[in-house]
Amino acid sequence: MSKAKYVYLFGNKEAEGNAKMKNLLGGKGANLAEMNLIGVPVPPGFTITTEICTLYNEKGRDYAINLIKDDVVKAVAHVENIMGMKFGDKENPLLVSVRSGARASMPGMMDTVLNLGLNDLAVEGIAAKSGNPRFAWDSYRRFVQMYGDVVLGMKPESKESEDPFEIIIDDIKKKRGVKLDTELTADDMKELVKEFKAAVKKQTGKDFPDDPWEQLWGAIMAVFDSWMNERAILYRKLNKIPDEWGTAVNVQAMVFGNMGEDSATGVAFTRDAATGENIFNGEYLINAQGEDVVAGIRTPQQITLEGSRRWAKLANISEEERKEKYPSLEEAMPEVYKELYEVQDKLEKHYRDMQDMEFTIQDRKLWLLQTRNGKRTGAAMVKIAMDMLKEGLIDKDEAIMRVEPNKLDELLHPVFDKDAVAKAKVVAKGLPASPGAAAGQVVFHADDAEKWAAEGKKVVLVRIETSPEDLKGMNSAEGILTARGGMTSHAAVVARGMGKCCVSGAGSIKVDYKARTLEMGGHKYKEGDYISLNGSTGEVYDGLIKTVDPELSGYFGQLMKLADKKARLYVRTNADTPHDAQVARDFGAKGIGLCRTEHMFFGGDKIIAMREMILAEDEKGRRKALEKLLPMQRTDFEGIFEAMQGLPVTVRLLDPPLHEFVPHDEKGQKEMAKVMGVSVSTIKAKVEELSEFNPMLGHRGCRLGNTYPEITEMQTRAIIEAAMNLRDKKIDARPEIMIPLTGTLAEMKMQENIVRETAEKVFEERGKRIDYLVGTMIEVPRAALTADQIAQSAEFFSFGTNDLTQMTFGYSRDDAGKFLPIYIEKGILKNDPFQVLDQEGVGQLVEMAVKKGRKTRKKIKLGICGEHGGEPSSIEFCHRVGLDYVSCSPYRVPIARLAAAQANIMNKRSWKKKNK
Ligand code: PEP
Ligand code: MG
Repeated sequence: MSKAKYVYLFGNKEAEGNAKMKNLLGGKGANLAEMNLIGVPVPPGFTITTEICTLYNEKGRDYAINLIKDDVVKAVAHVENIMGMKFGDKENPLLVSVRSGARASMPGMMDTVLNLGLNDLAVEGIAAKSGNPRFAWDSYRRFVQMYGDVVLGMKPESKESEDPFEIIIDDIKKKRGVKLDTELTADDMKELVKEFKAAVKKQTGKDFPDDPWEQLWGAIMAVFDSWMNERAILYRKLNKIPDEWGTAVNVQAMVFGNMGEDSATGVAFTRDAATGENIFNGEYLINAQGEDVVAGIRTPQQITLEGSRRWAKLANISEEERKEKYPSLEEAMPEVYKELYEVQDKLEKHYRDMQDMEFTIQDRKLWLLQTRNGKRTGAAMVKIAMDMLKEGLIDKDEAIMRVEPNKLDELLHPVFDKDAVAKAKVVAKGLPASPGAAAGQVVFHADDAEKWAAEGKKVVLVRIETSPEDLKGMNSAEGILTARGGMTSHAAVVARGMGKCCVSGAGSIKVDYKARTLEMGGHKYKEGDYISLNGSTGEVYDGLIKTVDPELSGYFGQLMKLADKKARLYVRTNADTPHDAQVARDFGAKGIGLCRTEHMFFGGDKIIAMREMILAEDEKGRRKALEKLLPMQRTDFEGIFEAMQGLPVTVRLLDPPLHEFVPHDEKGQKEMAKVMGVSVSTIKAKVEELSEFNPMLGHRGCRLGNTYPEITEMQTRAIIEAAMNLRDKKIDARPEIMIPLTGTLAEMKMQENIVRETAEKVFEERGKRIDYLVGTMIEVPRAALTADQIAQSAEFFSFGTNDLTQMTFGYSRDDAGKFLPIYIEKGILKNDPFQVLDQEGVGQLVEMAVKKGRKTRKKIKLGICGEHGGEPSSIEFCHRVGLDYVSCSPYRVPIARLAAAQANIMNKRSWKKKNK
């Protein structure tokens, strides 16, 4: 058996990996190899595979090192050869970077070590070679600091406590009477290295490692360790990245962006990640290293002249000041800019997707350190997909597959009301880092954001700058405002990924964490005060601004049209008011898949009549109350049918247990006693009589209609009469009457009979007929198991996967919140089965019922109306098992339309693959 390969080299045209090997080499490693293969300049290096990370976690450090030891030695020699340098050498030392790189990009979540290989000897070599001792010693002190933090655990536990290295730097700056790091001399840097090392010795009890090999192994293992750090685990959870994937480690020859005024480092995008516009853009810093651009410490400059001018306008900076202090790369280094422009064009054409690149310029020589498909907002995602389709870069299927259905959500939600915003006062301006509107109460700390949001408050997280530790708080906030940082700062990148509104780098605001205040526009805001953000313009407003629904035409409309052409499943909505029905139609719903009639009984007179019906002594009393309810129900149904204009409407008969409608409080009971002319104690006794131990498994669904047929009669009459009234007004109405919670054919049959007899009565009274269907929910496991029998009576099935999940797992829908999060945390369940359909278990019942139902009734109409009907992976399942439609809440309709198209494309692709 040949030995498994764990180390892949790159750095000559024969890179051992390629872009297809992401699972093994991680995104960064695979793309470095690919760039190398297509002739883009990358510093030579090697990638240690993700398999080693998994083995390291399973079997420990020694085991992992043993597997790769020889190969890593060879790989370092390979880099030495290409660079003509030697690891740990006194005269010509090779320095390397050690970086993580998982299959899916996890920006800023894991650790990196730069300048590795430096020690007291090598630093002299670098100083002599570069002729720049300050640079050499600055690199050295950065290395000790980074290595100390990442590998030796010197990093402070929480950001409130102080970083030992930063304290030392502040001390020396004070002593020298300077403000900026750049004002420190080579000797100062030398002093810093000494003091840093002493701090390491003091805190860890060990000397800082001088041996480059010891440094290298320490860094490699630390990167593997960082796969399991808290923020990486949280990021994976939020982005559904499995823990088993592991990270690869990339070791690469260092190139320096901080060698002087002819060196720089930056981040660039082939298109605008916020709007999707086809404009090359990005930021860079002269004489800076590695993470300086994304860290948000210095104000980065724009790469293109056009971008630079736009930025200056937003930041209120004059053209003279811009040119002098913040020139674009296009102006500062035109030849390098030209090369970078060509590289980005090549990369986008090669990958056929928007690229997010990191680069370094050392002595005016360009090096690419990374390229990946760029994260983008929902709006940018749609625009880029549709533009690339028009440009002929991708085909229609690909354009559809490029849009993440859940990201569409960002386009569907409200933006600021134009009038309200025109009257609002702008108190600050920053960069439009992530679009959308956000309004809420100011908080200054991520944990407060989390806490306040949990209490149901809407908050805006305000920070000087954010760090990966703030992830949870950012996720809880409506929006994020930062004082520092550019378009590629941590806050901006993460917010765009989350689809959260973000304004970054609002330099004029003053944040005081201790006092919990924020000064802007001449006003001091306290924690809890209201502000609003516009992430599309960078404007910050005083107070809470009203929002309105967004426009749904343009690129979004084109994508939806395309999706409908590609989908086999069609999409209905769950709606029980004319307003919701209208919203859903505007979003493209082709009917109502579930109208929960119980929602129509609340409010005003209806609830009183409903209570009268439930609390009545006998059938006579119930009929009397039902007579009052009939016209109200009829009017409600007319509203819904009218909103749907001839599209099918599935109306479900009363489902929940009756006790949900009766008054449990003294006041309500007194009121009902008065209305019904009975004593309060009679009402009380009746309420008690209705209470159940397990209401979800109790007197509900068709059990109500079968014990009190008069309820089914009234509802059927209301539905049929409403439809006929509309027909009289020349408005088409297509009712489908749905029986809830059916478990046996007899239950269904009895309900069907009542419905049909009542409908016939109405037809006779009116002397005409209309078409209607009678069908059932399939939400009790027994119904799925006996679907062939039930289909004798039911003309359609709608899978109620909420109840079906409840009854298949035996998890109470109302109580599962207590243990499901723990189950997911412990890995007992991968997902919440009430959100993502459990295809393995519950799915089997659905599939079986589909087959059995069709066996009995070939043309039976099949759909789903549980929450899963709006969840992309569940929709894919529904497509695969052959349902006709999915039904979901109005705001999820576009998501479902896109997911339905993707399901069809994916299934055709896998069919083709199988049958090749
Ligand atoms: C279901 O059970 O999936 C369903 C749609 O019905 P409800 O949520 O109203 O019980
Ligand atoms: Mg149900």
